[in-house]
Amino acid sequence: MQLFASIAPAVWDETGRDPIALLGAVERSRLDELAADDDFVARTNGLLGELHTYLSEPRWYQSLPDAPAAIAYFSPEFGIAAALPQYSGGLGILAGDHLKSASDLGVPIIAVGLFYRSGYFRQAISREGWQQESYPVLDPDGLPLSVLRHPDGRAALITLALPDGRALAARIWRVAVGRVTLLLLDTDVPENDDELRSVTDRLYGGGGEHRLLQELLLGIGGVRAIGLYTRLTGSPEPLVFHTNEGHAGFLGLERISDLIGGGLSFAEALQVVRAGTVFTTHTPVPAGIDRFEASLVTRYFSTELLPGVDVAEVLALGTENYEGGDPAMFNMAVMGLRLGQRANGVSKLHGEVSRGMFGYLWPGFDEDDVPITSVTNGVHAPSWTDPLLLQLASSKFGAGDTTSADWNSPEISDWDLWQVRGAMRQQLVTDARRRVGDAWHEQNPGVGDPAWYSSLLDPNILTIGFARRVPTYKRLTLMLHDEDRLRSLLLHPTRPIQIVIAGKSHPADDEGKRLIQRLVEFAAEIDVRERIVFLPNYDIAMAKLLYPGTDVWLNNPLRPLEACGTSGMKAALNGSLNLSILDGWWAEFYDEENGWAIPSADSAGDGAERDKLEADSMYDLIEHQIAPRFYDRGDDGVPHRWVQSIRHTLSTLSPSLSADRMVREYVERLYIPAAVAEETISASGYQPARELALWKSRVIEAWPAVHVTHVESGGVDAVPQVGDTLHVRAQVELGGLTPDDVSVEVVYGRARDGDRLIDTQHAVLEPTTDNGGESTFAGSVPLGRAGSFGYNVRVVPRHALLASAAEMGLVAAAV
Ligand SMILES: *Cc1c(COP(=O)(O)O)cnc(C)c1O
Repeated sequence: MQLFASIAPAVWDETGRDPIALLGAVERSRLDELAADDDFVARTNGLLGELHTYLSEPRWYQSLPDAPAAIAYFSPEFGIAAALPQYSGGLGILAGDHLKSASDLGVPIIAVGLFYRSGYFRQAISREGWQQESYPVLDPDGLPLSVLRHPDGRAALITLALPDGRALAARIWRVAVGRVTLLLLDTDVPENDDELRSVTDRLYGGGGEHRLLQELLLGIGGVRAIGLYTRLTGSPEPLVFHTNEGHAGFLGLERISDLIGGGLSFAEALQVVRAGTVFTTHTPVPAGIDRFEASLVTRYFSTELLPGVDVAEVLALGTENYEGGDPAMFNMAVMGLRLGQRANGVSKLHGEVSRGMFGYLWPGFDEDDVPITSVTNGVHAPSWTDPLLLQLASSKFGAGDTTSADWNSPEISDWDLWQVRGAMRQQLVTDARRRVGDAWHEQNPGVGDPAWYSSLLDPNILTIGFARRVPTYKRLTLMLHDEDRLRSLLLHPTRPIQIVIAGKSHPADDEGKRLIQRLVEFAAEIDVRERIVFLPNYDIAMAKLLYPGTDVWLNNPLRPLEACGTSGMKAALNGSLNLSILDGWWAEFYDEENGWAIPSADSAGDGAERDKLEADSMYDLIEHQIAPRFYDRGDDGVPHRWVQSIRHTLSTLSPSLSADRMVREYVERLYIPAAVAEETISASGYQPARELALWKSRVIEAWPAVHVTHVESGGVDAVPQVGDTLHVRAQVELGGLTPDDVSVEVVYGRARDGDRLIDTQHAVLEPTTDNGGESTFAGSVPLGRAGSFGYNVRVVPRHALLASAAEMGLVAAAV
């Protein structure tokens, strides 16, 4: 980056720090001059050498046993760089950071997405404060992309059969994200008619059929694109398929169709695909889930789209055949969970919420047994740490990586750290003034901007940042709950605050646009307008200056609707302190020293009361804790107590918040087990898959007859004592299954509210006799603690290729 900046600093800033745009815009004479500059050439060659090493040397992944040769990663959006706006918010940024860390760690990911001609929309704000969307068209030739081609030079195309004999074609753009390859499918090709050319026009541009076409292309077309790519380049085929949210879920169907072509039945192919598929869910809100009319799905799959796959089998995977479900809808998250043997949420709390939310797919099981784990999101530290902070770290420690620097070391003085924090705040103030000025000129061509713009924001005032998409649950306007109170905080005579806000509302969400309008109107009021500002067009470029420039990063969602949230992580990596509801990642990481927790008023009577209580807590924290600490200065003007919190945040949070930690967890806990499972089930010409499919159908058929007929126990008195051993003997009717087909378990724990058990554990009972039909199982449970104790006996299917007891959603419990 510094190398590019040094080519032509002014052009670098003008082109939005986009290397390709810079090289296109810079004068020829300047390039000639640099070519003759020995220092510059030496520096460039040095960096090129480092790049070659980075791209080829063995890294963390290369030392792992059982690690698959390639992993496919599907996502509807990718936030890789400001110059490639193929993202709308957190989901895309996360996907981009996943790829970057995978590259750093040497994880061989082939990623698949769509190339949206206009990306997500560009936001402007009208004089009335209303959000306006525009869709500037991207020119792929000006972007770091190349077309995947056949050896004879023809562009490689994938096609999808559509209803009425039509076909959808797409070309494949390749993007190199370090060592990782990203393939982006693009329907804007001459082989398509105008209507089909616009399938990839925009990110989430439409609903219904347009969206379905995008998702068919991403999932089915994506697997085909990977096939073409691996054949044309000779790179290894992926063994594991990871889908980032349900949008790419159709990928499993394409793989099933392939396997059917190889001689397997649908049920057998399903076992193979499940073994190798990882599904990540991102939304804790049922309304946030992707669903289609089942009739639309029927129309698209009653075609040649997937040879060998019957439309009824497709529908069965996405059908909402559970209480509260709508049989007329096809649910992408439900299909994702049925097509993936391994699934996860994106923070510990979100894992819990997801187990509750999707529990209906595993009826009869406790929430804790629902097979959805969690991997907390992380952020790519090298992309999100401000260069000023990196420079400070490397000048003191020579380290290029802030996550491993010792921020408590006396090598870095409070003064040094505070100077850098101040410089980052100043950068934000400068950038905010520039953005507001630019927006004015766009809305009022030819009219000079208001004089007060030059005093907008103050580089020495406690700065609070708040930026995110604007769905209702994020409560953009909670800070306006009591306008007078907010005004007095902004205008405090000795301890003022200032607030920088940004965020896009979904184009179809007028409610969200009204929230933005309210904020913009408040921020225009004469007394506060220098202290609170809404910056239009939140994107990666803005975010990079916004997070480091704020002292406090605010987040006030309705708990538990924020699955993880990553902007606060990016702020923390730069030494900003978080002020947040204990939701998502903050519920996991808040430790009283790294920021402040706004208590959730979960038990408030209604939404309005809850808003009031939570807003009041927020004002109180700012007024009584945050501002006093910020303005408590030593003789040198440094707030030493505050700096202590910064040091603590940087040294304790940075390692856990980094996407390296996240990607390692995915590899160790999900990708490698999935790879081993898929290899095992595919061995000997898929024999284990055939056996598993047969076994499952036998178990499903027999299950209605499986019962626990009698339970007896001994060894524990009415008042259980620690050290007692409970002996349990259960008689089970197996309905034609053998004792090997099942696991009979004692589920025990503390008894609550009558027969509910909490903190449960399991102990397996062993078969003792098998007198045809009815079998006896016995075992014992040592009691580890005194007090209320309860247990129950249950039967679940057992097979070496199942990943969890709940997997088949079958259980028979003693009643
Ligand atoms: C990180 C980021 C987001 C997501 O932040 P959340 O805290 O998850 O809302 C959205 N947009 C941009 C530009 C980002 O950098």
